[in-house]
Amino acid sequence: MFWADKLLEGRKGREWINDAWTPSGMIHMGGLKGPIIHDVLFRILKEQKKDAKYTFGFDDFDPIDGLPQELLKSHEKYMGVPIFMVPSPDGKGSFGDFFCSKMLKLFKDLGIAAEIYYASDYYKKGVYNDAIKLVLDNAENIRKVYEEIYKKKIALDWYPFQVICPKCGKLGTTKVVDWDGEKVTYICDKNLVKWAEGCGNTGKISPFGGNGKMPFKVEWAAKWWTFKVTIEGAGKDHASAGGTYDVAMKICRDIFKKDPPLKIPYEFFLSQGKKMASSKGVGLTGEDLLEVLSPQVVRFLMIKTPPNQAVEFSPRGTDLIPKLYDDYQRASDAYFKKTKDEQARAFELSQTEKLDRPPIIRFSVLAQWVQMPNMESEIKKEGLEKWAEYAKVWVEKYAPESEKFLVQKEIPDAVKELSQKQKEFLQKISSELDKKWDAEDFQKNIYECAKGLDMSSKDAFSAIYISLLGKDHGPKAGWLILSLDKTFVQKRFAEI
Ligand SMILES: [Zn+2]
Repeated sequence: MFWADKLLEGRKGREWINDAWTPSGMIHMGGLKGPIIHDVLFRILKEQKKDAKYTFGFDDFDPIDGLPQELLKSHEKYMGVPIFMVPSPDGKGSFGDFFCSKMLKLFKDLGIAAEIYYASDYYKKGVYNDAIKLVLDNAENIRKVYEEIYKKKIALDWYPFQVICPKCGKLGTTKVVDWDGEKVTYICDKNLVKWAEGCGNTGKISPFGGNGKMPFKVEWAAKWWTFKVTIEGAGKDHASAGGTYDVAMKICRDIFKKDPPLKIPYEFFLSQGKKMASSKGVGLTGEDLLEVLSPQVVRFLMIKTPPNQAVEFSPRGTDLIPKLYDDYQRASDAYFKKTKDEQARAFELSQTEKLDRPPIIRFSVLAQWVQMPNMESEIKKEGLEKWAEYAKVWVEKYAPESEKFLVQKEIPDAVKELSQKQKEFLQKISSELDKKWDAEDFQKNIYECAKGLDMSSKDAFSAIYISLLGKDHGPKAGWLILSLDKTFVQKRFAEI
């Protein structure tokens, strides 16, 4: 049984799936795994006609605690300020909006059907007011949870809340030291964190209605309680023993007296065995991915393997992407043959708007076609335009050198190495070109001509490739030759 079906087997009652992301930087391709996994679970619940909901939160109330290299200069002064209050790098709207809009575009392309909410909006509307009161009233018990999990003493003047300093606008630098049931006493501490500096201001303020927020782990539990979340997965970094997930689950049970949601830890993508990180220049962004993979193949990549298994993804200079397309086509075949197969199910759940039967041609062949001149009409005739675009990107950015070829404008030097017999063979092919051919038959004819001259097909084909491409291998010669201008080919073969 497909892992997602198994995970949801036998569950009863109303389901609320939630996921969230902090919009403060580029969207790494691994960042799409959560949204897609949750979307697949939601889709299955809908299939089962369950009362289900899928919400996705943009955590734009989080303070900025790190910046992409290119924004260090312009945005360093905003370190510690909540994301929704910081201006956008492009001057339009907020910093959060800038990155959220990129994610929303990816969601649309990938057919992710989540209801979106913004943390800043919910805090301001008072959606979390009850939870805030509860955690402040239970500060002592939350300290106990932390002490138990982290095995260290938590100071009595630590409260699970931070306010936006009314003077300097920073949240990351403030510390709540008291709670009287209506207002919190805060300090905007100069040295609370290394990445931002507080202004030293102190005062009393209501914690409600968007004046501040709960720390991440407490907020997570508060969300589960407020919305009655039943399913929320998280990346492995949050899901390790004693990690964020465990703390939030314990707070959920001990403080909010609610069963925590179904835990689904998911693994990262690896690049040559190491965790991928776009910040280090390794790995791809979500946008990079959608430039070379169709949305369906992106979904397929994210779900074809159970979430608890790491997936190696090193697409540069390898045939990983063509192989992924092959796998996708195989899964499609299994689906249309009505095989009860896990990959067939993965294919089904990879669809976006409607069921889309992929092309039959192999991606690796299409990658050759897009490198041949005059193949546009063939591509169009076969309805391969979309995949052809992905194939072009693959050739340009990812393909190993051996997969790239270019018809040489001048006679390549390597023709000097051709034998007399190979030259004779090229003349024969040249004369055959005067007849009308389709590529399939012409390909057969090339074999026949080689046979007729008592040549190995290897010698025959390398003669063609060397004289046209300057290397001893290439795409199917029949198609290659017919894709070129006939006079050009005949002239080239005559000159050798
Ligand atoms: Zn301040």
